[in-house]
Amino acid sequence: MVVTTPAIVLATLRYSETSKIVRLATRDHGVQSAIAKGALRPRSRFGASLQVFSSGQAHLLLSSRRDLHTLTAFDLTNLPVALASNVARFATATALAELMIRVGSTEPRSEAYDCLAGALEVLEPAGPEQLPGLAVHLLWRLVATLGFEPGLSQCLRDGQPLEDGPLAFSAADGGALCARCAPTAETTMLPTPDRAALRALVSPAGLPGLLDQRHAAAHRRLLARYIHYHVAEGGQLSALEFWVGRAWAGS
Ligand SMILES: [Zn+2]
Repeated sequence: MVVTTPAIVLATLRYSETSKIVRLATRDHGVQSAIAKGALRPRSRFGASLQVFSSGQAHLLLSSRRDLHTLTAFDLTNLPVALASNVARFATATALAELMIRVGSTEPRSEAYDCLAGALEVLEPAGPEQLPGLAVHLLWRLVATLGFEPGLSQCLRDGQPLEDGPLAFSAADGGALCARCAPTAETTMLPTPDRAALRALVSPAGLPGLLDQRHAAAHRRLLARYIHYHVAEGGQLSALEFWVGRAWAGS
């Protein structure tokens, strides 16, 4: 069966002398792997379209017997050159792609696809000042859209309403704890402004202002810890770690 679906290239792998295997986020068929036969030949019909974060229409010959399908054509609509030209933007995009691959459902998840596509679109022109807050926001949005939204409106253990002021955030519990439950868990205390910032970062609207360096670093760590518990289930996420560490920025 041949299907045509909007798709984004999440990763590519050389396969044999002439072919590539691509991991695709598709709008209609979830995350899929496909072989692009002859993609590495000089006059391949794929040209240079199969780069990481390329988007377009994928024509997929779906195999009923195996997980590896065949990409028969890829009509490129966008090759986000500006993403690859900046390491901070590229690291963010790679962490987003890694999340998609990790959750990796082959079920249609158009909402997650649209979230990723939208994220790459706003990342591409993002400036250095805007990027730290924007990156945290985009990753939280994808986490939430993939079904792992943190709970911030009541205590996750006993459903009690939360007091005003600082918020006890337990990555293991998946979000906020009330003052009674917090002492029995490993929590991060978020002062009132950071509590408000977290709410904004998780919400579709995003943060109204910029996130300064110190706060951005704290929010990156919080998000990474949360992802490790809920999305990665303890597994390695090397792109996420690279993004959190910001090795390129020095210290
Ligand atoms: Zn409680």
